Amino acid sequence: MMRNDDQTLSRTDKSPEGPGGDPEGGPSYVSRGTLFLAATPIGNTGDASARLTSLLESADLVAAEDTRRLYDLANRLGVRVSGRVVAYHDHNEDHMADPILDQVRDGACALVVSDAGMPTINDPGMAIVRRAIERGVPVTCAPGPSAVLDALALSGLPTDRFCYEGFLPRRHGERIRHLRSLRNEPRTMVFYETTHRIDQAMQDLDEAFGADRLMALCRELTKDHEQIRRGTIAQIIESMAQDPPRGEMVLVVAGAGSDQVQAGTSEVLTDHALAVMARQRAEEEGVRIKDAIARVVAEHPLPDGSLPNRKKVYAATLEDRRED
Ligand code: SAM
Repeated sequence: MMRNDDQTLSRTDKSPEGPGGDPEGGPSYVSRGTLFLAATPIGNTGDASARLTSLLESADLVAAEDTRRLYDLANRLGVRVSGRVVAYHDHNEDHMADPILDQVRDGACALVVSDAGMPTINDPGMAIVRRAIERGVPVTCAPGPSAVLDALALSGLPTDRFCYEGFLPRRHGERIRHLRSLRNEPRTMVFYETTHRIDQAMQDLDEAFGADRLMALCRELTKDHEQIRRGTIAQIIESMAQDPPRGEMVLVVAGAGSDQVQAGTSEVLTDHALAVMARQRAEEEGVRIKDAIARVVAEHPLPDGSLPNRKKVYAATLEDRRED
């Protein structure tokens, strides 16, 4: 395998009539003067498309998130990467975009690939796409594997409307606020997660969406040990205690059905309204007013996921009592 790593870009001297093209006579796989994004397999090399293979073989320039992984993929596919290879990752994508696009303007076919799946989906690529659009440089995509759609399709949850949420915030406070802000989201939600944060993430899903919300934990997609666990949040947590999940994973969570949308939470309740609810709750459940306020407040997050101020709600209950 010829290695051709290079951090500096230079003009390509390849002929504009380079190789490529569909042997069946369909649209050609490779076009000169075009920037291509291409999806790479997320586990199973057999998912590489003929178009990806063709682009790897004949692009003048390949911008790869990790050049070693690019060559590893090319080896597994039995492909020789003939173009110049440059590293293109989160830390350099802003300043690499223009030099790559200059070459495309000069007639090169440039290919952007990430380590796995679709570039731009929690991976590098967005900076160069935006810049190509700004500069009017032709940009297209050779689509293929991406963990979002694979997990969604296998989850068994509604696919007609969904939202991709990427990775949850690392910090507990931010994560729980974010999840609470999604409590009434009606669309199926897709989250990426890592092995070392999955336990905490599941506890937070439980707190934000309730134990009965349906979900799927999809791990090691397309690989030999692919596994999909489907059930309520409580059931998935229970299964994790028996058999801790390992490897790469995606969480797919059902949206709030109309029965799960809590009355009033789509609008912001006043402190007074929360105080009235808390007083009722304290009476019905025989708990202290401060505990009732804590419960009511937790059930009515503000649109940004933060909780209403308990002290203000408490002051409103005192005022309410005085008025009685
Ligand atoms: N660009 C990729 C895509 O299109 O799916 C995503 C890259 S992101 C840095 C990596 C995350 O994607 C992993 O932490 C995991 O959540 C998810 N992922 C990637 N491959 C996966 C697989 N084979 N099975 C389950 N999840 C996977």
